[in-house]
Amino acid sequence: MAASAAGTPLRVGVLALQGDFEAHAKTLRLLGAEPREVRVPGDLEELDALVIPGGESTTIGKLISSAGLEPALRAHHEAGRPILGTCAGLIVCDADHLGFLDVTAKRNAFGRQLQSFEADLEVGGVGDEPLRAVFIRAPWVERHGPEVEVLASYEGRPVAVREGTVLACAFHPELTDDPRFHAIFMAMTTSARERAGEEVGR
Ligand code: GLN
Repeated sequence: MAASAAGTPLRVGVLALQGDFEAHAKTLRLLGAEPREVRVPGDLEELDALVIPGGESTTIGKLISSAGLEPALRAHHEAGRPILGTCAGLIVCDADHLGFLDVTAKRNAFGRQLQSFEADLEVGGVGDEPLRAVFIRAPWVERHGPEVEVLASYEGRPVAVREGTVLACAFHPELTDDPRFHAIFMAMTTSARERAGEEVGR
């Protein structure tokens, strides 16, 4: 696919401290990227982008601290390398945590009876066909700043957002066979690498 055309594949790290990192790796591979598991700061070197997967945000936050990963994550972000946060990963990126997104996420926001559900969403940037989204004890975006673009909402609550090089969603795009949400991220990653002067496919 476009990401790997004729050149070196995009190297996309997947934070592998906890949660469903393998499913993300599978989707990234399908899109022509080269996934790499990230556990220690050195794993963030030479990456084009990073996925922070779902799981349990408090646990992921603690594991980031104990692995000493926070400075390397900040450096990755400041270098303009894209980040995709899904579900707990969205929470980890919000203003109360790493602050990569000017949003405040509300944890487990959909309530007990809706801890786990699926919905067809209209998502900006994936075409006309609705995207089947799997929500598992999902957050929603309670507040967002003016620079934040809302790509999808469910029952009036933002569930997919983008701000600069950071993309995030409250659902689990890695748990369906539809790679279109990750494809948005791959397009952002291709542009970022081109901006960095290393053209993909040459
Ligand atoms: N409920 C979890 C949290 O608050 C997120 C759930 C998920 O990532 N599937 O961290």
